[in-house]
Amino acid sequence: MVVEIGQRSETVRRANLSAIVRELHARGPLSRSELVARTGLTRSAIRDLVGELVAADLVSEERAAPLGTPGRPSPLVRPNPEDAVVLALEIAVDTLAVALVGLGGTVLELIRIERPRDHLTVDEVAGDLAELVDEVRARRPSAEPLVGAGLAVVGLVRRTDGCVAMAPNLGWIDVPLGERLAGALDMTEPISIANDADLGALAEVRRGAARGADTVIFISGEVGVGGGIVVDGVPLTGVAGYAGEVGHLPVNPAGRPCHCGSVGCWETEIGSFALLRRAGHPEDGGAAAVDLVLAEAAAGDRRALDAMTEVGRWVGFGLAGLVNVLDPRLIVLGGLLGRIHPYLAATVDAELDRLALRAPRRLVRVVPATLGIDAPLLGAAELAFERLLADPASWVGPRDVLRASA
Ligand SMILES: [Zn+2]
Repeated sequence: MVVEIGQRSETVRRANLSAIVRELHARGPLSRSELVARTGLTRSAIRDLVGELVAADLVSEERAAPLGTPGRPSPLVRPNPEDAVVLALEIAVDTLAVALVGLGGTVLELIRIERPRDHLTVDEVAGDLAELVDEVRARRPSAEPLVGAGLAVVGLVRRTDGCVAMAPNLGWIDVPLGERLAGALDMTEPISIANDADLGALAEVRRGAARGADTVIFISGEVGVGGGIVVDGVPLTGVAGYAGEVGHLPVNPAGRPCHCGSVGCWETEIGSFALLRRAGHPEDGGAAAVDLVLAEAAAGDRRALDAMTEVGRWVGFGLAGLVNVLDPRLIVLGGLLGRIHPYLAATVDAELDRLALRAPRRLVRVVPATLGIDAPLLGAAELAFERLLADPASWVGPRDVLRASA
């Protein structure tokens, strides 16, 4: 029976360490009193557990300045960014990016380059990423302990092995990205891979426009439209990791063919092709043409403004269905949709009023994303940190070892 009690107290210790590290990672420095309030643990439990985290170099404690209140000031506990770092990687349509991110979400290094257009095979792309990783790591002290790596890729990803089932913009079908990247990076730490919009959603919830919100739909539009859904703080992955592909929600049976092979998907009505076509520009004009439409709209050009309104109508149409199904707190528009949000906000709201069920409609707001182009990369860092956040005890080591070494 003694063993059972010991096991139970170890389980509790692990869960409590996780709760503390999650709070510090998400919110930055907190006083011991704030940790008591946020975790529901006792003052003495916080003191002991923070002591373990300090001994493992994950956090530091410093005496807070007195605030003029009676009693001793509560020491401030802060995460140590340099003592637990992750590699965040991204394969986007036009760019590759690598960052080193420290505990607490501090971006220590970040490199983003144009994706070499003739480097299309998985081995070429993995090789390019490995070079960027070497470059980023060479800028840092070699002693920084690496938790793991996370990769955001513009495609459908099977979470178990990082196999990319489909990435139309890369021309990939059933590509074993996880396996090839592990070979190219030659690292022993785990590498987690997920869809870019899923990770954009995670980043906006942890550090951006949806910070603190429980149930969130993130929609990021460019040529393709991706989505990520977070329910009660937990990313919705589906059975294999393919969930959240809102861009391929069928919305118009009489619509245009979609590059996924279907017809009338949402992205054929709200992606950049649709905006450019309606504004009277070649639909494959790319980022420069989108900038032009934005400039025209800012100057009051009727056709550009009408194009925005029409996109807004289709955004509202699709969102009404998602609001009815998911009852979200917040809808975050990223990428192109975030940039044109000021022009379509009123239309989107009006369509939601007209089409969504009144009860969930009243609870939801539509806002632009705040993390910009780096959202998926920051989400990849969060994905890589998950292992440490879920069980910091595996990093800290068993309690008895620490006591013996103290
Ligand atoms: Zn489609």
